[in-house]
Amino acid sequence: MDFFNFSIYKILSKDQSILDQARIRLLYYGFLLVFVALGALFLSVYLQGLPLLSATSGILMVCVAGLFKYLTYKPQWLQISHILLALGTLVNLSTVFVVMQDVNIIVIQIIILVVVFSFYMLGVNWGMFYSLLNLLPVLLFLVMVYDHNYYISFKPERVDEATIIIGVFANFILIIFIQSHFYTAFLKNIKELKDTSEEQAALNIKFEKAIEKAEKSSQVQSEFLSTMSHEIRTPLNAVIGMTNLLMMNSPRQDQGENLEILKFSANNLLAIVNDVLDFNKIESGKIVFEKIKFNLVDLLHNICGGQMIKAEEKGLLFKLDIDSALRRKVIFGDPTRLTQIIFNLTSNAIKFTAVGSVAVRVTCIEDRHNTITVNFSVKDTGIGIKKENLESIFEPFTQESITTTRQYGGTGLGLAIVKRLLELQGLQMHVHSVVNEGSEFSFNMEFPVSTEAVTAPAQKQQIAAEAAAAEADALSSLRVLIAEDNPVNVMLMKKLFSKWKIVPTIAENGERAVEIMQYGNFDIILMDLQMPVMNGFDATIEIRKMPDPAKANIPIIALTASALFDIKDQVTSAGMNDYVAKPFKPDDLMEKIQNLVGAKTV
Ligand code: ADP
Repeated sequence: MDFFNFSIYKILSKDQSILDQARIRLLYYGFLLVFVALGALFLSVYLQGLPLLSATSGILMVCVAGLFKYLTYKPQWLQISHILLALGTLVNLSTVFVVMQDVNIIVIQIIILVVVFSFYMLGVNWGMFYSLLNLLPVLLFLVMVYDHNYYISFKPERVDEATIIIGVFANFILIIFIQSHFYTAFLKNIKELKDTSEEQAALNIKFEKAIEKAEKSSQVQSEFLSTMSHEIRTPLNAVIGMTNLLMMNSPRQDQGENLEILKFSANNLLAIVNDVLDFNKIESGKIVFEKIKFNLVDLLHNICGGQMIKAEEKGLLFKLDIDSALRRKVIFGDPTRLTQIIFNLTSNAIKFTAVGSVAVRVTCIEDRHNTITVNFSVKDTGIGIKKENLESIFEPFTQESITTTRQYGGTGLGLAIVKRLLELQGLQMHVHSVVNEGSEFSFNMEFPVSTEAVTAPAQKQQIAAEAAAAEADALSSLRVLIAEDNPVNVMLMKKLFSKWKIVPTIAENGERAVEIMQYGNFDIILMDLQMPVMNGFDATIEIRKMPDPAKANIPIIALTASALFDIKDQVTSAGMNDYVAKPFKPDDLMEKIQNLVGAKTV
């Protein structure tokens, strides 16, 4: 039954473009039109007893019927157009040279049909080809006739005037049909393009608004995080600081144990706050990797020293195996970020291992004179990770299962941070894990190598000891001004400095600090950033404008509870020399103070 289904809707579909649909329609209705015209011609010439024309029109009718059937079976308009144009060319050739042996209006109509049809259906190149192909026989015939060279024994069949008039008329109808059909399709196409571009423009506006909104909300989010971090870090600073101070005052054993727990929990909370902040910083692309000189072996010892104690407390064996080829190398890189990666991996390894060992292996896998490639591997004999979770554990806030959260705690941010830190440097993390047997996390990192040799440990110790002694002497006479509004922090600072036999001067806000600086002489200022009346940035700007160069150039260290984003840039551009993020370790603060005043006093 389907064989006799000639409906055009069977072959039109929404996937076709407007022009392709027009091409299929043109073929479909064109075939019907031509079939009727050929039928009339066939009847007319048959009745006039013209055998050649009857045969030609008959054959053409069959061809048209066949192609029509093919079109309704499969809308292969490209193939069908080529076949039709080839047929048209043959008809043209035989009309000029055999059937009519003349270039008359019918021939010109056939050529126009071929030209119009070929360009519309097949485009410029094929249009040119078929047009020229059909002009050639006409030209050739005209030249031959002109030279009296043309002769064949066959006499052209003469059709009556009525047939010629109807034929000419039918051809014109066909030309008009093709033109009107395509003109409509082009118009429709242009309108659609216009509509699409208007829709596109409307969509673009929507997108821009959405992006603006997203950017705003991400800004609000980071501002919120910054504020929260400040709010959380300030009391945490007091808790950790006070705990440190209490522990320095030789407490009773039971008090000492309680203080240890207090310190551990506060540090844990701090680690979580830091993780959230860090992840936020990485996600917003505000992270810049440093390229500073360091010794990989020293760094690894520093990281693993603390981890080793943690592992041993759990009864685990902690192995650190460093390739001897790395011992004497000074390399360039970002030690802070590398520490963060190794620290996270080893912390996880210790956390998720109940019995057995944690092994950190660092191997130099390639040494090309001025660059080395190092493989870092952290392997444990812990609970392992299921194969299907090997990817998801790197997603932020994702842990392997609910049981993990309940049993081990954590935020699920550690590995997300590690992965992003590696990815930002174009590196990849590899994980191999078997449930109940253990896991191995590894990655390769490239470092440029410095030509400088490593100082021998003994020599280093002596230098450090000499410097420490000299600095300790110089420190007690240090004149410190602290601008800080929070009374708990003020108390904490006073107690802290008393350990170094320093009595700092306190200014309760930025304005007071500027006033005190006008009549007092100091060696260094510790400047809180968020203060009432005048903040730390403005106070620094005022101090840097003072006429006395000794005052204007005084070293200033910013104290900030928000370790977010471009704080370093902000601090530097306000004219401060350095910053410490609260809560800080006393030694870190002292190191920074010594760095800044050391050159002056020691
Ligand atoms: P957290 O340690 O805070 O849970 P991470 O992002 O560091 O977050 O780790 C995500 C999850 O990956 C962990 O909760 C744990 O399920 C799994 N995981 C990470 N390291 C190990 C390991 N060494 N052994 C087993 N599971 C691990």
